[in-house]
Amino acid sequence: MTLISSPEAPAIVCPPWCMRYDHDADVVDENNPPNHYGPDFGVLGTQAVGEGAPRGLISTPLSDMSPHDLRRLAAAAVAAAEWMEAHS
Ligand SMILES: [Zn+2]
Repeated sequence: MTLISSPEAPAIVCPPWCMRYDHDADVVDENNPPNHYGPDFGVLGTQAVGEGAPRGLISTPLSDMSPHDLRRLAAAAVAAAEWMEAHS
């Protein structure tokens, strides 16, 4: 667990898997929890808001995908789901 704090802002407690190093720029309060980012799996990223469980994010449009693109997406989805289950 990483603890990030400054004199003006409340401390941000990152989950052990968080890959962000720029939380100092976040405006965080009770209505705006920090976003924590985990690893990317091809076109899928992983993110958690506040103390929530990590979720998958699609980083490219899903329209007009070739069979090759769809196979890459399917493989990335399986890898991301396994990672999220291990870190929830
Ligand atoms: Zn974080």
